[in-house]
Amino acid sequence: MIDGIEVESWSTEEICPTCGLKGLELRHLVYKKDEGFELFIQVCPKCGFKEHEFMDVLQRGYVKYTIHVKRAEDYNTLIYRSPSGLITIPELGIEITPTSRTLPRITTIEGFMTEIRDRLLALFSPEEINSKIEKLNEALKGKLPITFVLEDKSGSSWVKPKEGTLVEKIR
Ligand SMILES: [Zn+2]
Repeated sequence: MIDGIEVESWSTEEICPTCGLKGLELRHLVYKKDEGFELFIQVCPKCGFKEHEFMDVLQRGYVKYTIHVKRAEDYNTLIYRSPSGLITIPELGIEITPTSRTLPRITTIEGFMTEIRDRLLALFSPEEINSKIEKLNEALKGKLPITFVLEDKSGSSWVKPKEGTLVEKIR
């Protein structure tokens, strides 16, 4: 926290458009004074490339992103899930509700789904969840189109789709 500004950062698998390095860093800045605003910045740790284009003036209130995941590229859609983000994948009967311990997190749809699979495998016996895991694996292989829904009552969650990925946004 620097003078009313909170900064979080993550390294991603994104490729730098300038030098080609795989591993752009994403920073999320929240400025809490006055009206407040939020900013997403992508930074290359190697060549210093910076992209600010994801500036989003904080509009408090509900937001819903519906991402249609059909192609392999769609799985690379970058997702910022704020602590109040609710994730649902209706085709797989999956719902991840926020709790008081939910931390802000950024990863791709593929990353979230891999985590969900690992968590299911850790919590249940294979017999209990076999069909769910099978469907999840099918989806991850691109054989089953899914809808990845991210809802957030705080309006802070954010999605950066790949070119050609279909995303509907409701505010
Ligand atoms: Zn670079």
